[in-house]
Amino acid sequence: MSERDECIFCRIADGKVKSDLLHQDSEVIAFRDINPLAPLHLLIVPRKHIPSLVELEAEDSSLIGAMVNVANWLAKDAGVAEKGYRLVINCGPEGGQGVPHLHMHLLGGRQLGSKLG
Ligand code: 5GP
Ligand code: ZN
Repeated sequence: MSERDECIFCRIADGKVKSDLLHQDSEVIAFRDINPLAPLHLLIVPRKHIPSLVELEAEDSSLIGAMVNVANWLAKDAGVAEKGYRLVINCGPEGGQGVPHLHMHLLGGRQLGSKLG
């Protein structure tokens, strides 16, 4: 089995697992989190399998900008941009990362707590 076949977010990006897809382009996809923590809870995911933020190579760092652009567009589209929203990247076990494929959470639609940790 290849790395992509073993990774849930690669499988979603490759169309092998269904998701509530809201955006896709050549680099980035976005879909609804299966276990939402806010009325709007989306995951913004690069198609490339990068296990975590700390493993992002300099040559791929523009992906983060692409992910933020998609997140901002989706926040505007969902109508939360004016009230506000939060973008989060968990990195590694102590950072709370559960799925070992780089992703950004977009949370919005309710008042979020001021505490991060
Ligand atoms: P992490 O804790 O790694 O930062 O976030 C992983 C997120 O992925 C969690 O919020 C979890 O609910 C979500 N998730 C895990 N598996 C799936 C899945 O198969 N489909 C979708 N849509 N979300 C998933
Ligand atoms: Zn992957």
